[in-house]
Amino acid sequence: MKSGDLKSNCPLVGNSHIFEFLTKSLAKKNISGSYIFAGPANLGKATAANFFARGLVCEAKNQLILPCGKCPACLEAAKNIHGDIYLIKKEPDKKNISIEQIRDFIRNLNMSSFLNSYKVGIIKGAENLSESAVNALLKTLEEPKIKVVIILTAIDLDSLPKTIVSRSQVLNFRAVAGDIIYDELIKNHKASRSQAKNFSRLSAGRPALALKFFQDEEYYKNYKSGVESFVGLLNSDINDRFSAIENILGKDVKGQEAVKAASGAIDLWQNLTRDLMLMGLNLTDLIQHEAFIKELEALSLAGLLNLINILKQSRKYLAANVNPKLALENVAVSF
Ligand SMILES: [Zn+2]
Repeated sequence: MKSGDLKSNCPLVGNSHIFEFLTKSLAKKNISGSYIFAGPANLGKATAANFFARGLVCEAKNQLILPCGKCPACLEAAKNIHGDIYLIKKEPDKKNISIEQIRDFIRNLNMSSFLNSYKVGIIKGAENLSESAVNALLKTLEEPKIKVVIILTAIDLDSLPKTIVSRSQVLNFRAVAGDIIYDELIKNHKASRSQAKNFSRLSAGRPALALKFFQDEEYYKNYKSGVESFVGLLNSDINDRFSAIENILGKDVKGQEAVKAASGAIDLWQNLTRDLMLMGLNLTDLIQHEAFIKELEALSLAGLLNLINILKQSRKYLAANVNPKLALENVAVSF
């Protein structure tokens, strides 16, 4: 096998250590009962999980690199209709992945495969498992079955119970160098140089996010308006700040959706204050939001340290189940 062949099959941008490990495991048929793909969002964990699942169900024989991409199993898996691959994740309106979801998941994995292939279960965002769901899953992990593989993706290992981590093969995904993302956008997605520069910078090492910025105009537009509302927030008086926060959360957004919106806003504001701090230190070449440098330069840096502390505090409030609107309003009244 030439190394060039391997590279051309790789679905991941960066994190080649993971691709190599999974490819070797498939080739040597050295497969564990459960895996955890850990790392921040948008690094390719779901892509890697799909790739590995396809490799496990691929019907090709005598092939050095799996999945072959051509057999019936590969074609079904590519359309997400393969009967031996199950994926569960938190439903958008729910607080967590429920015990019922896990019971269904386990029941499905316990049924024998039609094709005598592997059965693969993927739990996306395993940090969202409810406590009872974790316990049910743990029982399954304690008694691994032949030809059943469970893959969990999670933003970090600390968010998972140690009992689950200790029973799984852990693969850590790392942030990807900006120039690798830049090259990917130009070579494989035909981005212009300025788009590649802008989006690779803005993605802060997360290739899937860079691609989302490039391909999904609406997503980028929303992100842009998020930056603009932060700038607006810092430049306005207290009344305007409250209405700005109402706009950020949306009028009819409630429950988990509101928590997600508030948490997204605080993430963005923390990244923007980090950029402002770097600019204050004359380290402009390190900032994430270079595309918005004019807007950021117009902001006053007075009170920046105070703002950084308030954002930290609001994040804690949100984690402690404080009403998301109050958590954001805490920012609006405190600086
Ligand atoms: Zn195949």
